[in-house]
Amino acid sequence: FRRNPGEAEFHQAVTEVFESLEAVSVKHPEYAEAAILQRLCEPERQIIFRVPWVDDEGRVQINRGFRVEFNSALGPYKGGLRFHPSVYLGIVKFLGFEQIFKNSLTGMPIGGGKGGSDFDPRGKSDGEVMRFCQSFMTELYRHIGEYTDVPAGDIGVGGREIGYLFGQYKRITNRYESGVLTGKGLSWGGSLVRPEATGYGAVIFTEEMLKTRGQTFDGQRVVVSGSGNVAIHAIEKAQALGAKVVTASDSAGFIVDEGGIDLDLLRQIKEVERGRISEYAERRGSKKVKYVAGGSVWDVEGTVALPCATQNELGAEAAKKMVAAGTIAVAEGANMPTTAEATSIFQDAGVLFGPGKAANAGGVATSALEMQQNASRDAWTFEHTERRLTEIMVGIHDSCAATADEYGMPGNYVAGANIAGFVKVADAMLAQGVI
Ligand code: NDP
Repeated sequence: FRRNPGEAEFHQAVTEVFESLEAVSVKHPEYAEAAILQRLCEPERQIIFRVPWVDDEGRVQINRGFRVEFNSALGPYKGGLRFHPSVYLGIVKFLGFEQIFKNSLTGMPIGGGKGGSDFDPRGKSDGEVMRFCQSFMTELYRHIGEYTDVPAGDIGVGGREIGYLFGQYKRITNRYESGVLTGKGLSWGGSLVRPEATGYGAVIFTEEMLKTRGQTFDGQRVVVSGSGNVAIHAIEKAQALGAKVVTASDSAGFIVDEGGIDLDLLRQIKEVERGRISEYAERRGSKKVKYVAGGSVWDVEGTVALPCATQNELGAEAAKKMVAAGTIAVAEGANMPTTAEATSIFQDAGVLFGPGKAANAGGVATSALEMQQNASRDAWTFEHTERRLTEIMVGIHDSCAATADEYGMPGNYVAGANIAGFVKVADAMLAQGVI
């Protein structure tokens, strides 16, 4: 911690992984001899840069850009870019660290990295977003590449931003290098199912957890937080499997819709108009809907909870209430939305708990499928790609469950994910020598 002062989220992510790895160090003393853990915690490369751009009023604006290339034992660095005012080095490092194990769990040949900026796309015009993205890429392009580092989207970075970033990369390098970014549009190298993948994957993972208790999504009452890419597609898949999803939220408040979320309306407001969740309640035209400004979406009772907004959004008080209200499963669509204390409360109460590095790995797995299609100059059908995603998510579930069993912690998906993700990376690092 002394080497990385003030990086609270990074400390939190590392602590959680280290707790799970105690059992591994007993079984594998060779990892300690090769200082695998110490090396894993030190990113291979960290890039911090100035991003100057001009706003619509002609004023010069300055943001800070980051790319942390954390670990390339299994493949080129892979992980998203986050544009949000809260972004600083500690957030990028926590996300990059998690990404190493998540990418390992997918079984695909991808290392771990993450990046972003404290730029806030909210309230900016398309022109401003474009100029920012072009300036960001004017520095980033020299660090990335199909065989080096392949960024993607995250909070605040969707198809629009990836388009501007890709355009600038192509212009600077004079290369149509499709595999340098994922999350691209369908007509220019993108993959079907990529937009849906994280949300769908989280629901598929949860369904597998539910099956271990003889249950399914059918008939569950589901509480979802967020209303971005992950939340919208988690809602869609949960509804398709017969669940009733009753909530969605943004950073200003949440809606409760006792009739079940109207997905078309939600998508129109969030994806087309880039509006706020409060507008949903105004436009739904139903007495069964209410909007709560501020507050906690976790006050709404449900049997399954899918936190899909941001880190540390679900704390101990909320977890206690949810356990008392009969929640049977929680799966993290977002990265580290549940605090360490809340996670323990769920686990101690026997609630099925799917950690983000397993439950939300469908997004990056499908990004790797996009890279495969780019490398082979091919485009797969929706059905084929979704089948691959489903196989991968079921595989991740089974590998977490089997690893938890093997290390004497049956049903502990946190430990299972951390250990299964870690061992593969550690073995590759051992094989590749002290680098
Ligand atoms: P989006 O930008 O599409 O949506 C983010 C959502 O979370 C918005 O509803 C946003 O509300 C809300 N949110 C963001 N910050 C806060 C905050 N501080 N407090 C409350 N609500 C907040 O992002 P994604 O859906 O892509 O990402 C959501 C989560 O999923 C993140 O943790 C991300 O790292 C993770 N994830 C995403 C993947 C992907 O494929 N997109 C892959 C794996 C993980 P508002 O509009 O008010 O900011």
